[in-house]
Amino acid sequence: MRMALLLAGLCLSTPVSHAQIALLAAFEHPCGSASTEAMGRELIRLFALAGSEIAVHQDAPKVYLGSPRHVLYVAFTGRCEFTVQIAPRTSQRVLARLATVDGKLQPLMTVDCDAVAETIASHMAGGDLKRGDELLGRALGRVIAHEIFHWVAHQVNHNHSELFSEAMSARTLLADHATFDPGELQLLRVNR
Ligand SMILES: [Zn+2]
Repeated sequence: MRMALLLAGLCLSTPVSHAQIALLAAFEHPCGSASTEAMGRELIRLFALAGSEIAVHQDAPKVYLGSPRHVLYVAFTGRCEFTVQIAPRTSQRVLARLATVDGKLQPLMTVDCDAVAETIASHMAGGDLKRGDELLGRALGRVIAHEIFHWVAHQVNHNHSELFSEAMSARTLLADHATFDPGELQLLRVNR
């Protein structure tokens, strides 16, 4: 599967896909293409390790989804692109969450791009700033992967792993490499 960049307002699109996981993305602001592309690459990489393909669609309901096993709606708030003016994080805003109704997870996700950008901004070195969009996109991919894991693996409670601890650290979000642990990959495999 590949992610294609389209012009004219669309920044995410995938061709007809056999993906097991489909995300329907909606952005509050026009999305930054470099960060969004990096986000897509990171999601594809993380779920490929569990044998799953993932497709991200921006133009619902006008897209053909195929027959994915899991469909999640993802609402992005804030500006999903990196600027050097981003203030370091001062509040404990939640980076992302899945909705719950009566304690049951729903396939409805919100992602706070500003909170993710602020979380990584204060831990970035000078050289990182030049690739801020790429690093923000990768961090967004990891945050979203955490939420997808809740849904696909039917897990409400967190553990202390790299990607599925309750509070993902800036270190994990910025690390050169992050992955689900073997137990998590197994849960993703059996539920794909
Ligand atoms: Zn969580």
